[in-house]
Amino acid sequence: MTLPEPKEWLLDEENELRIEIDFDTKVKLRLVTGTAEVFGTELGQNVDYEFSGRKIAVFTWHGCKILITGTCSVEYIANETPMLSYLNTHIALEQRRVLATQNNKAGPRVMIVGPNDVGKTSLSKMLLSYALRQSRQPIYVDLDCSEGSITMPGCLTATPLTEMIDVEEGFGSSATSAPTAGSAVMPLAYYYGFPSPKDNTKLYSLLLARLAQSVNRRLEEDEAARTSGIVIDTNGLIDATGYEIIAQCIKAFSIDVIIVLGHERLYADMTRLHQKSGVAVIKLAKSGGVVERDNAFRRQTQNQKIREYFYGTSKSELAPYSTMINYHDIEILQVGEGSLAPSSALPIGEDRKVSETHVVSVEPSENLLHSVLAVSNADKRVEPDILETNLAGFIYVSEIHDSRKKLTVLSPCPGRIPKKFWWLGSLKWAED
Ligand code: ADP
Repeated sequence: MTLPEPKEWLLDEENELRIEIDFDTKVKLRLVTGTAEVFGTELGQNVDYEFSGRKIAVFTWHGCKILITGTCSVEYIANETPMLSYLNTHIALEQRRVLATQNNKAGPRVMIVGPNDVGKTSLSKMLLSYALRQSRQPIYVDLDCSEGSITMPGCLTATPLTEMIDVEEGFGSSATSAPTAGSAVMPLAYYYGFPSPKDNTKLYSLLLARLAQSVNRRLEEDEAARTSGIVIDTNGLIDATGYEIIAQCIKAFSIDVIIVLGHERLYADMTRLHQKSGVAVIKLAKSGGVVERDNAFRRQTQNQKIREYFYGTSKSELAPYSTMINYHDIEILQVGEGSLAPSSALPIGEDRKVSETHVVSVEPSENLLHSVLAVSNADKRVEPDILETNLAGFIYVSEIHDSRKKLTVLSPCPGRIPKKFWWLGSLKWAED
């Protein structure tokens, strides 16, 4: 088979090459001359980067030549980008970090808000990458439970970053197969198990409060992280529930900078609601390159994430371990089953919210096949504490032997699964 001819792209200063690559295609990208970055991480010259199932921008401040080998579904150069305003925002945040270091105070605590698909995650990556490039050690907090840029979808996470975000793997590299694989950077993950904060708002805000507590403790103990600050990526919920969550978040994480991305009304509301309490509210434009992702694309991204958790990427492959487990050695738990019932169906006097954090046991059965379960670090089932216990990692149910009361699971770690309590959410994955 002959390899396709590489295509050459010449970019002037402050231009970006926007490319979209399908999931069943692989595309190689090489920076030949000049400098360029992908969401804040600099590309090395003459290094081949490989992408599949991604939508990215290769931006250059000073001009560059790029070679692309393979077929992109979309490829074009844009000369109008909001990158200068993003860089200026970074510079302002860095000034706060300098002051924080001089006075041994806390660095900026930034929260990025906006609707879905305006570039919140991409901007988080850029601001964090720019901070890392200046030898800062910020904490990345991901409250977008639909995506799971650090571990798996369904989680709320916090990750202290010390190394550059990988161009090919994104945040995934900051927490490869984490938390179980014992990578250098351990994300702290709490399991929510639903795609939207609206699905179980009580549980979501309980976990948000717990995560904030842990992050605040870490900031107290870790001077480099404290002066570097935090960047919080949020879900795209901007209705009344979304506003409540934003308000809770501002309080819990002592947010002092809100960045509103691509939404005038949200900016006006955030200014009205929060500026008087000393929070700086900044408006930034959405990049014309941000792509709306349909459900099929989101589902494929999710599958790719799950696959990479167990098998790694082509750059750093992992071999998952298969273990057979007796039904009676584990306890499978689910949250808030009662919340599915209409309020009218609840016993008189019972608050619907109570059922939203009610923990129920799930009998193992064939239904578990292909499920991805979150392994809790809890040793005992004490409620509600077990809800707020962080995760050891994830396992995938590859086989069910119901007649023998056993199941086979894949995990990224060797040996028996040391933890007994496994959370069941809505994640399923059919291994290909
Ligand atoms: P949000 O977090 O607001 O939902 P994302 O940052 O995840 O939005 O962006 C949505 C999609 O658009 C992602 O696939 C991202 O990689 C892509 N994207 C973001 N900025 C650009 C850009 N400038 N050029 C091309 N694709 C982009």
